[in-house]
Amino acid sequence: MPDSPAAATYLLKLGELTLKGENRGGFEQVLRRNARSLLKGTGAQLVVTDGRYFIHASEDASEKIEFALDHLFGITGWAKTRFCEKTIEAVCKACVEEARALLANDAGGGGVKTFKVEARRTDKRFPLESYGIMATAGDAVLEAIPALKVDVHKPDAVITVEIREKAYIYAGNRKGLRGLPVGTAGRGLLLLSGGIDSPVAGFLMAGRGMSIDAVHFHAYPYTSKEARDKVVLLAEILGVYTFGVRLHIVGFTKVQMRIKGNAPAAWTTILLRMAMMEAAESIARQERCKCLISGESLSQVASQTIENIRCTESRTTLPILRPLIGMDKESITGIAEKIGTYKTSILPYEDCCVLFSPRHPTLRGDVEEASAYYERLEIGSLIKEAARERDEENCSFAWRRRPS
Ligand code: ATP
Ligand code: MG
Repeated sequence: MPDSPAAATYLLKLGELTLKGENRGGFEQVLRRNARSLLKGTGAQLVVTDGRYFIHASEDASEKIEFALDHLFGITGWAKTRFCEKTIEAVCKACVEEARALLANDAGGGGVKTFKVEARRTDKRFPLESYGIMATAGDAVLEAIPALKVDVHKPDAVITVEIREKAYIYAGNRKGLRGLPVGTAGRGLLLLSGGIDSPVAGFLMAGRGMSIDAVHFHAYPYTSKEARDKVVLLAEILGVYTFGVRLHIVGFTKVQMRIKGNAPAAWTTILLRMAMMEAAESIARQERCKCLISGESLSQVASQTIENIRCTESRTTLPILRPLIGMDKESITGIAEKIGTYKTSILPYEDCCVLFSPRHPTLRGDVEEASAYYERLEIGSLIKEAARERDEENCSFAWRRRPS
């Protein structure tokens, strides 16, 4: 374990994972693999002792490590910790240093006026019991920093002491992404447009442990090269959380032209969505994806009324996961901002759906009628060809392109 002054240690907190009973071992194995993958190139070491996850690293790597921890599904939080010898004198000194650091980081001032010390002692050979540690360390902080007061019920800051193979001292827990480690719930195929919603849908399913492939439909030359680049960038940002996204890029111009030329204008969007689902299903089966994922939200736009959603899903037997179905735009946008996709999503490039969207779309499509129009298009071989001739890009995280 690095012990030099320039060393940094982080403590990770596991959440839902700890409820997994007999399956916990498998979930933790994936979490460790994911954490190590995110930490690659930082020189940091992940060490698990007594079920506690620690990362030991050099201080220089702090920015990268904190970025990694902020993008890791499966942990509820993390804290940068100090460690010291297991003597009460060393613990008191470290608590005072931690309190001073809290005040120094309290940018506006006045945010941290009260504190308490919490202690846990796994090493029962330590001469003081938890209560004794709290009282002694609390007194040391009060004496060194008279401006701080103790409040055991609603303190502004909690300084935690853990006596293990060393003594660990930390305050200022940072929230983690929670959820389950990516890779514990199989693979799903995300229908990724260039908009705000679908990257958020992918992120939410990744948070339930799903690995993500994505499919994007474009109508080149009616949609631009920039529109495609934008989707690649969105997949890269999503790939930070999912250890890469394989993006399948499907040219749908011929399919769209067939629809436009042979179906009533009011039905074109619904029929296009049906065709997308059919193509997505064939790719999902080839790529061993167990479900489709879409960014639909009930009644957000005409194509997402419950009747039209029923039409859209009629061309696939795979489950379609729609994590945004009950969310409003403001909540979705809030998540997009938090995960770093929003700024890219609002870049003004045309999506293929927008390009062909009718002025007065059918609002409550009947599924029998939709199927009749669809059959008449005889579009199956065009869809197969489009899916077969797709491009693929492995969109993986690059530090230089990290979301801001
Ligand atoms: P967003 O585009 O951000 O997903 P939106 O409100 O614009 O949201 P729609 O355009 O109605 O949504 O599309 C609904 C869903 O259909 C999308 O969330 C996405 O999953 C899928 N979708 C739409 N256009 C495409 C496309 N060109 N390629 C792949 N999937 C698409
Ligand atoms: Mg869209």
